[in-house]
Amino acid sequence: MNQDLQVFKFGGASLDSVESIQNVGQILQDMKGQALVIVVSAMGKTTNELEKIVQAHAEQNGEAPALFDAFKRKTFETCLGLFDESHEVFVSLNDALVEIDWVLEEEPHENYDYTYDQIVSVGEMVSSIIVHAYLNQQGLPTQWLDARDVILTDNVYRAGWVQWKETQENANRIVKPMISTEAFVLTQGFIGTTSENFTTTLGREGSDYTAAIFSYCLDAKSMTIWKDVPGVLTGDPRLFDNVSKLDLLSYKEAIEMTYYGAKVIHPKTIKPLQNKHIPLLVKSFIDPQGSGTYISDEVVDNYPPLVAVEKAQALLHISTRDFSFVAEHHMSHLFKVIAEHRLQVNMMQNTAICFSICVNDKDNKVADFSQAIEGQFKVIIDRGLELITVRHYQEKILEELRAEKIVLLEERIRQTVQMVLKDVPVMKRK
Ligand code: ASP
Repeated sequence: MNQDLQVFKFGGASLDSVESIQNVGQILQDMKGQALVIVVSAMGKTTNELEKIVQAHAEQNGEAPALFDAFKRKTFETCLGLFDESHEVFVSLNDALVEIDWVLEEEPHENYDYTYDQIVSVGEMVSSIIVHAYLNQQGLPTQWLDARDVILTDNVYRAGWVQWKETQENANRIVKPMISTEAFVLTQGFIGTTSENFTTTLGREGSDYTAAIFSYCLDAKSMTIWKDVPGVLTGDPRLFDNVSKLDLLSYKEAIEMTYYGAKVIHPKTIKPLQNKHIPLLVKSFIDPQGSGTYISDEVVDNYPPLVAVEKAQALLHISTRDFSFVAEHHMSHLFKVIAEHRLQVNMMQNTAICFSICVNDKDNKVADFSQAIEGQFKVIIDRGLELITVRHYQEKILEELRAEKIVLLEERIRQTVQMVLKDVPVMKRK
């Protein structure tokens, strides 16, 4: 274990304005003289804005240049709030932004996801260039690192899988020599590269995962995610009142909750940390002195009920066309196709003639999957559903959550209840 190294991750909300970036600088002043790797996401809602440019370019609806101009304007405005007009950061930014110009000048590529990664990744590049320049300007010596020189993925755009062996070798060769108490290392979250040097992304909100990859490969002593909430809460404060902060959480609990939709941490983040017993802190950038939540191997007793809500769910009812039983060979084929489509299965149930799965309904994956199996199977799809997972449940809470909803699927295993819910349709008067 590298006793001294810490890894910090700052997400979009902590970098969404001049003041926010200054606040991050303030937090980092306290780390001066310590070995630190900083991972940054794109600023604010940049990724959503860049996604719109990708879409407009794919549709060739003529809107892409204006959207891109708006993005550039906003970026330069933020910079003018932080730097003098003659600062060299503007040159570096132009170099990063021109990548988008090049893509927009071309006809849309046949692979939408490829174009998506080339454009959307620029958000992280821009943000890292700005924060790097700002920290140096504030007297915090910081070295800029291109995460794509380190994180190698497979060739699946928008959902790259990390090639751990090569990534570890790159970290040893490139990053370890950079670690020092004299200067921080700052890099981008979310992005990686294929073996042919094309940029990939790790999936939305993937910067937490990047920080965990660096923590793992560099044997960090801890990793901290800076959020706009005081720590990990018992439920999403945007959806529920009366949520409270958890001081301690085990890796196991954190994995369960994030996998099923607790948005506070990207689900893939915990495992690499757990494998090396690296504690994860979730802290507030609004109240940096607050205690936050400490996630580790430590077994915690007496959890309160924890609620995770995952929206945009689809329930697929799959049956054989000839109404024979859904037998082992059908299942094995179905799982193969599920894996090929990288469909996240959140719940499943099997009866003699029907196999039902509840999956995240995003990016056309459900339609593509159904198309791939419809020759052999009949598929009925319910959409617009909600998956609620309650750990350490109490009946009263389940009743409240089910109120005015239709339960399409429910499962109880030990301390966990999962329910797939649909809103009750509103009856119209004649
Ligand atoms: N910027 C990317 C996103 O918004 C990655 C991240 O923020 O973690 O999904």
